[in-house]
Amino acid sequence: MNKLLLAIFALIFVGCSSTPKNLDQYKREVEQYYDEGHYGIETYEVIQDAISELDKMSFGPKAAAIFDVDETALSNYEHIKVIDFGWEREIWDEWLKEANAENIPQVKKLYEYLVERKVKIIFLTSRYENTCDATHKNLVDEGYKDFDTLICRDASTKGMTSREFKEQERIRLVEKEGYNIVATVGDQWSDLEGKYSGYRVKIPNYLYIVD
Ligand SMILES: [Mg+2]
Repeated sequence: MNKLLLAIFALIFVGCSSTPKNLDQYKREVEQYYDEGHYGIETYEVIQDAISELDKMSFGPKAAAIFDVDETALSNYEHIKVIDFGWEREIWDEWLKEANAENIPQVKKLYEYLVERKVKIIFLTSRYENTCDATHKNLVDEGYKDFDTLICRDASTKGMTSREFKEQERIRLVEKEGYNIVATVGDQWSDLEGKYSGYRVKIPNYLYIVD
């Protein structure tokens, strides 16, 4: 093989395998995005767009909006930052039981807008039943006082992805309970994909991905 060919192969190889940043640098970038207000501005814009779209719609008596909880209605960012962006089931459950997550003000504004328009609010979360009471308390403490129901996962849903669980619940709410879901609000695409989600509002999340 001549030297020119070797050089071309070397260039292709280098081009295809760029080295990643140090993990700590990624964490600091995410932290800056949140702490310097960029996340807040992005979320504000998402909510403003949603409200102007919803303004164009009219809602019947069984109109309902589905809200996810984590990183949608409530923010776990401060906790996640304290533990340096890791995740461990026991530590997570302890945190949820403290019921100390703060609301995301921009999302709360959308919630208040929908309550004002007489749309029924349903919280649908992949949190399990052992933290459901604490979740209820946390939501009410953070100003989400008007809602029809809070749905958490029970043991029977253990093998399902979050997407499967949430779609199953939306199907039940529409086909068995007669709700008309006009909007779904979540920070994960798995909150929004599938049947009966209505108008989809995707809240930014740079902390984790849930399938
Ligand atoms: Mg979430």
